[in-house]
Amino acid sequence: MRFEGKKIVYIDMDHVLCDYEAGFNAHQTKYPELAYPQSQPGLYIGLDPMPGAVDAFKWLSAQPELEVFILTSPSEKNPHCYSEKRQWVEKYLGMETVNRLIISPHKDLNRGDYLIDDNVAGKGQDHFEGELIHFGSEQYPNWQSVTTYFSNLAAR
Ligand SMILES: [Mg+2]
Repeated sequence: MRFEGKKIVYIDMDHVLCDYEAGFNAHQTKYPELAYPQSQPGLYIGLDPMPGAVDAFKWLSAQPELEVFILTSPSEKNPHCYSEKRQWVEKYLGMETVNRLIISPHKDLNRGDYLIDDNVAGKGQDHFEGELIHFGSEQYPNWQSVTTYFSNLAAR
């Protein structure tokens, strides 16, 4: 088995690594006549990282006991979403992270230990075999709370 002895961590993109809310609002202002402004290219690559997300991703990736991947579900009706997510990863996390990007509408099919996601269901999160870290919840409101959780785990 690959990654033997390591804990596999998956991280969602929208609302977790990427500030989808701010980006969507800006895109809506740009295309006020459209019911689905995400249908227009430029939304996904234009998203800013969530506060602390880039540093937290790098910190988690540097932990020797962890293998970190991005597990994001696509906006299936918008093909540009697939390529823009890939571009976003290169832009903010570097070419070395592109190989860690998994785009899947069925998150439960990926085996692993942790899934950091703002949704608890809808794309298989509720059937994920590992522990769901509910980003944006009271327990994990931001990246600092998530890295604190992992540093406490490592110290045990
Ligand atoms: Mg999300």
